[in-house]
Amino acid sequence: MIDDLVQFLDSSPSPWHAVESTIQRLEGFERLDETDKWDDLPSASYVVRDGAIIAWRTPEDGAAPNTPFRLAGAHTDSPVLRIKPRPDGAAFGWKQLGVEVYGGILNNTWLDRDLGIAGRLIAGDGTSTLVNVAEPIARVPQLAVHLDRDVNSKGLKLDTQQHLKPVWGVGESSPMEFASWIATRAGLDDPASWWDLCLYDLQGASIVGADRSLLASGRLDNLLSCWAATRALNSAESASHTSLIVFNDHEEVGSSSTTGAAGPFLESVLSRIVASKGGTNDDLHRALAASSCVSADNAHAVHPNYPDRHDPDHHPLVNAGPALKVNANQRYATSAETASEFQRACESANVPWQVFVSRNNMPCGSTIGPLTATRLGIATVDVGIPQLSMHSARELCGVDDPVHLANALTSFLSD
Ligand code: ZN
Repeated sequence: MIDDLVQFLDSSPSPWHAVESTIQRLEGFERLDETDKWDDLPSASYVVRDGAIIAWRTPEDGAAPNTPFRLAGAHTDSPVLRIKPRPDGAAFGWKQLGVEVYGGILNNTWLDRDLGIAGRLIAGDGTSTLVNVAEPIARVPQLAVHLDRDVNSKGLKLDTQQHLKPVWGVGESSPMEFASWIATRAGLDDPASWWDLCLYDLQGASIVGADRSLLASGRLDNLLSCWAATRALNSAESASHTSLIVFNDHEEVGSSSTTGAAGPFLESVLSRIVASKGGTNDDLHRALAASSCVSADNAHAVHPNYPDRHDPDHHPLVNAGPALKVNANQRYATSAETASEFQRACESANVPWQVFVSRNNMPCGSTIGPLTATRLGIATVDVGIPQLSMHSARELCGVDDPVHLANALTSFLSD
C-alpha cells in the first residue's frame, strides 16, 4: 500500500498534478463541470476547480435532500519556489531564474538540490497544459564555508530576493528564453504566455531506516492526507450520509482564494448537491447541521534533538497513529465532541491515536479545519500524521501512519 503513496508523492510535484493523481485513483467516479446544470447526478461524482478537487458518493437511490455529509478535508499545495512571470536573467556568466517564495519554506532546505520544474502553462488561446520536467534543471548554490566563515557558529541568513535565485545554465540570457524552453518541453509550438510553475526536489520519496520504518519525501504536508482520504472515499460505504473529500489549494498562503478553504468552492458544491435532489435552502441547513468533518493535515512529531519544543504531556510519536489536534484558542477546530467522534472511528478500525496540544509559549499553525467550521458551521475535528521537518523541501514521517490515517478516515466516512 505504501508503494502507492510513494507513487502519489512522486507524481504530484504541483497542486495541479496532485489533483490529477487523485482523479487517477478515484474508482468509478464521474467528472462534473461546474458550468453544467446539476440534476440527476451520478451517485459517485467529482468536480475540479484549478488546484482543488471535491469528490463524493451519495447513498444509493432514495436519499433525502437533507442527507448529511461526512467530509475529509486536506490541501494540495506545499511551500515551494515558484517561477516569476519574467524570470530570465544572467550574472557573471551564470543564467539565473527569478523565483517567488510560495508559503513558509525552510529556506536552507532548497540549497544545493537538483531541482525539476512542474505546474501548468497557459497558451495564447487560453488552453492549459500540465508540464513536469523531471530532470535536474536548476539549483540554488550555497556559498562556500570559506566565504562565509561564521555560518556554522552564527547560523545561515538568507535574503529571499538575493540568495534563493537558482542557476540553470551558463552564458547570456535572452528575454523569452525560459518561455520558449518550457513550451518546447511541454510539446507546445509557441512560447507560453503565462504559467504557474513550481521548482521541486527531484529526489523521489524513499523508505528510510535500517528497519524501514520511516518515509522521506517532499510535500508530505499535505499530500499524505490527500492520498489517505482518497483511499478512504474509495472504500467507504454509507447508507445514511454522503461521504465527501475536499482538497483545497492555497492553505499554505492563508486559504483566501477561489480554491482555498476560505473561498466559496465547498459551500457551492454542497448546496448544489442538495439542490440537485430537489432540496430547499432549509434542507441544506438541515444537512449541514447534521454533518461532520475531519480536517487532516500533518502534525509535529516530537523531535529527539529538540524535545523541549513540545508540551511534555502531548508530544506525538511517529508510527503511533494520527494525532488529534486540540487548541482552546480555535487555531484547530477540534471540540471535545468532535474528538470523541474521531476517537470512535479510530477504535472501530483498530487504529491507534494520540493527542497534540502546543506549548502555551509556542503558538501553533492553523489548518483548513477552522475555516470550514467557520464558513459552513460543520462540526470539525483537526487531525494529522506526526512528522518532522515540516515545510522542508524534504520531510520525514513514519511509514505506518499514512495507512493508519487511511483506515481511520475510511471508518469515519462509513456508517
Ligand atoms: Zn499543511
